[in-house]
Amino acid sequence: MPKPNILIIGAGLSGLVTAFDLAQKGVQAVILEARSEPGGRIRTLRPAPNASIEMGATWLGNQHRNLIQLLRELNINITEQHMGRKAFYEPMSVSPPQLVDLPPNPEPSYRISGGTDQVIKALINRLSPEQLHVDQVVKAISQTNDGIQVETTSATFNADVVISTLPPKMLVDSIAFSPALPDEFLSIASQTHTWMGESIKVAVRFDEPFWLQPESSGTIFSNVGPVTEMYDHSSDGGYALVGFMNSAYHAVSQEERKTLVLQQLRRIYGPKVDEYRGYDDVAWSKEPFTYRAYRQPVIPHQHNGHPIFQQPLFGGKFILSGSETARMHPGYMDGAVDSARRAADEALAAIRGKNGEH
Ligand SMILES: Cc1cc2nc3c(=O)[nH]c(=O)nc-3n(C[C@H](O)[C@H](O)[C@H](O)COP(=O)(O)OP(=O)(O)OC[C@H]3O[C@@H](n4cnc5c(N)ncnc54)[C@H](O)[C@@H]3O)c2cc1C
Repeated sequence: MPKPNILIIGAGLSGLVTAFDLAQKGVQAVILEARSEPGGRIRTLRPAPNASIEMGATWLGNQHRNLIQLLRELNINITEQHMGRKAFYEPMSVSPPQLVDLPPNPEPSYRISGGTDQVIKALINRLSPEQLHVDQVVKAISQTNDGIQVETTSATFNADVVISTLPPKMLVDSIAFSPALPDEFLSIASQTHTWMGESIKVAVRFDEPFWLQPESSGTIFSNVGPVTEMYDHSSDGGYALVGFMNSAYHAVSQEERKTLVLQQLRRIYGPKVDEYRGYDDVAWSKEPFTYRAYRQPVIPHQHNGHPIFQQPLFGGKFILSGSETARMHPGYMDGAVDSARRAADEALAAIRGKNGEH
């Protein structure tokens, strides 16, 4: 049998899990990644040894079975997110922050021990180096007589089967197809929400976790902002508060965001905040390989998991994957794993079909 030639576009969680699954079945797929690093929407900063600060995906729950299964396969543990018994709450700008009791949480959330990028590193370690090509921005995909041709800004690749893991909106806005994709597909994909694409993740690092005191808390909920929610993010290597900022603040500079966030934290914790060690934020709507503006407003998770993403394209040789296409928990890491495993199975079935096997 000829060696199957499977190409995966995108080295985020979906692309890497598909390559891992295929490798376990004896098929070495090639991955093309636009950024210079793998990981996609998983981005862990390492300000000190053993410190991990998540600027992308962070939390999982017991319902995320696909992800939990993958973590088991990779021997990676999870740690419960510390919430504490109290939270700071800012109801409105004219009243000061209040320390309120949190109800017991029957559904804890967890973080990946050592940082979310442990998953990415573990998957990369299981691939051979020649499988991953970074700095390869895919620009065009065409169907040929016996397969698919993929053009990047610097090279051309030919494959029997191609799997795209791009968020559907990114796929149809940034890649030219020949023949064109069906109109209905284009219309749905272009209005498919890329989960967390508008979010701004913010982290402030400290030498001491002063919020882990009985009459304090690292949990913040605010209607005032700019930070709307924040949580303790301490790890073995350091202490931090990490949360989300109102997405409208993508319009101001990072320096202005920093000033406003520190101002808010001073309202809550007082002058201790001036002892901060570092500030980071990522406005994901500024990331050209994650976010493209929509022509019409979309609601969170719009068209995520739409059945059209499971329909065969280019005679079954072009397969759609990526978290937003998942049947289970689309948008989340769990969905990324679910879609990856389906895509690996479909790619192998397409190869078997091409070789006339059943
Ligand atoms: C701020 C933030 C917080 C989040 N928090 C959570 C959370 O707490 N829990 C959770 O479960 N999920 C969370 N998510 C969602 C989670 O990150 C995603 O579900 C998951 O990482 C998606 O993986 P993916 O491989 O499907 O897509 P991506 O990670 O988006 O991977 C797609 C890859 O394709 C590449 N690419 C794009 N265009 C091209 C091109 N033209 N050519 C080649 N490559 C290209 C990209 O660079 C990227 O590496 C969060 C996301 C963000 C942004």
